[in-house]
Amino acid sequence: MSKVNETATNRILVVDDDRLLIEEYLRCLGEEYEPDSATTTLSELEKVLFGDDTDESGAARFEVDTRNQGEEAVRAVEDALTTGKKYSIVFLDIRMPPGIDGIEAAKRIRDLDPDVNIVIVTGSVTAEVDNLDAEVPPADKIFFFKKPFHAAECRQLAAALCGKWHADMALRQANEDLENRVAERTAALHKLAYFDPVTRLPNHLMLLDELQAMIERSEESEGDSVVVVLDIERFSFLNETLGYDAGTELLRSIGNRLSRALSEEKQSERAIVGRFGADEFAVLMPGVENDTAIRELAEQVKTLVEEPFLIGGRDIFLKASMGVAWHPVHGRDAALVFRCAEAALHRSIRSLDGAITYYHSEMRYRARHQFDMEAEFRGAIENGQIKAFYQPQQCVRTGELAGVEALARWIRADGTVVLPNDFIPLSEEMGMSDLLFETILQNVCDEVASWRDDGGWDVPVSVNLSAHQLRNANLVGLVKKTLASRSVDRELINLELTETVLLEDLTIAQPILNDLSKLGVGIHIDDFGTGYSSLSYLAELPVKTIKIDRTFIAKLAESETNARVVQAIVALGKAMGLHIVAEGIETDQQYANVRRLGCDLVQGFFIAKPMSADRFRRWVDGHEDTQSLKHDSTIVEIDSARS
Ligand code: C2E
Ligand code: MG
Ligand code: MG
Repeated sequence: MSKVNETATNRILVVDDDRLLIEEYLRCLGEEYEPDSATTTLSELEKVLFGDDTDESGAARFEVDTRNQGEEAVRAVEDALTTGKKYSIVFLDIRMPPGIDGIEAAKRIRDLDPDVNIVIVTGSVTAEVDNLDAEVPPADKIFFFKKPFHAAECRQLAAALCGKWHADMALRQANEDLENRVAERTAALHKLAYFDPVTRLPNHLMLLDELQAMIERSEESEGDSVVVVLDIERFSFLNETLGYDAGTELLRSIGNRLSRALSEEKQSERAIVGRFGADEFAVLMPGVENDTAIRELAEQVKTLVEEPFLIGGRDIFLKASMGVAWHPVHGRDAALVFRCAEAALHRSIRSLDGAITYYHSEMRYRARHQFDMEAEFRGAIENGQIKAFYQPQQCVRTGELAGVEALARWIRADGTVVLPNDFIPLSEEMGMSDLLFETILQNVCDEVASWRDDGGWDVPVSVNLSAHQLRNANLVGLVKKTLASRSVDRELINLELTETVLLEDLTIAQPILNDLSKLGVGIHIDDFGTGYSSLSYLAELPVKTIKIDRTFIAKLAESETNARVVQAIVALGKAMGLHIVAEGIETDQQYANVRRLGCDLVQGFFIAKPMSADRFRRWVDGHEDTQSLKHDSTIVEIDSARS
């Protein structure tokens, strides 16, 4: 739509084959026009209508062009349009021999200019004139004017129609502005709906659209459409330690680096890079020839993300978990292929080994199964179906109850018990592991408080921490808050984390453990001996107890080497002033062995299996004859521990 030219003020085209009449028009509309008294009122009106476009007397100023023939008039209108000096009015004589008549000229002019007011001038009223608005629509821009006319009549008409034309143009401009604004807003909304505001990369919705388009195009070309999705490990931790702005800068840098390296690489096969979650990015690549090329692409993405980023003058090293799926092998449509890539990604996140997972069909079944489990698990936490079970630890010298380990159990509505290995990884994938931890810790605190209130006994309890919890920058706050809300002696609460988790990122773990220790809770190292088995790091940490992994205990009888390893751990641990727990004691033989090797404390089915809180109370009270309590002496000794 052409923009209205502000300078096109009151331009009038007069078309008549009669030279005398043309002169008459010029006299009425020209500069030298002298208003007589009859036109004074008109001048007032003109002043109101035209403001600046009036002379001192208030009369409108017109710029008049003239032509003698219809064709010339059409050309004049055409020229006026190209120069942007549009006419407000065209006065057209109805008969102009030998050329086309006024009505034909009017039709052609209307085709060129939808805004101009056309006035057909005629001496006699004919049927043609009656039918003008149908012949040359729109009806509000075609007029009939009878000659001979009085000068004032002509001026009045010209003034009124020019005023109308300006009003029309202003309205048109307002409409255009409105349309532009709507278009701009729509574009902005589109951007909001389809682009991630932080990185300006396509978001999930847009990625799916792009992938679908890619898949459709691929029907005619060779190769697979590959989806590589990645998750930045420990991003929330980085975000909180580096600061929000640096976190944002980091996300942008990741996006930029991937886009630059991948989408600008090959003109013919452009990748699309997008961000579809807080720290989740996707690369869509069309036309990938074979499995080797798919693997190369995934490796390239990994390398790109894991090379250091310079943020705030510091090198930041990232680790990415990655999932890969591709069309047509893993699905026919975009949504399915993307979901497969995400399922593969979750597998990678879960494994915590930073590997790339390539989707395979077996995962589809698991994904469905997992979906059902997820829904059920969410409900389980809400409905209090997640409970702590308690497994006692016994002092080998005195037989006293030395502590208990709290182990999470999911008690389904039908009474079946789900073991932690089947729901803890799930809770982590669902981002609910902190809630799970909090639930167990609250459970434990309530129980410890009631043991003291009801039974008068103080038993230390250890609660397990997962790798994910260590990545939660608010872990210390969470523990503090939970302990503060319960009246529990902090000395009785210990937190266990496995050696592998601890050593994975000692620089992160150390300050957290120090803070936890300052709160008064004890730190235990679980499954000790399965990690790198370097004891030196222990000296740097506020650790109270190490728990020798049960695989060592199980193999104790197999070789003398295992026995020597256990003996060495015990000796070193003791030299550092640590308590040593032997886990997984199942037989009296094992019990005797670890006692001989110098372990202070034992835990295992030989003493007792993990039990519900109620059952544990009864167990301590010695009233229940359970399968695991075969040894009367144990009961007696445990009982004596209470006094
Ligand atoms: P863990 O912390 O090493 O806990 C000891 C596991 O060994 C428990 O398995 C316990 O039932 C089992 N166990 C104890 N004595 C024996 C024995 O004599 N023989 C054998 N074969 N096994 C024995 P459970 O309860 O299935 O827990 C498995 C793992 O799940 C735990 O290993 C711990 O890493 C994790 N876990 C349990 N509860 C929680 C929790 O609340 N939070 C987190 N993050 N992890 C938990
Ligand atoms: Mg444990
Ligand atoms: Mg353990």
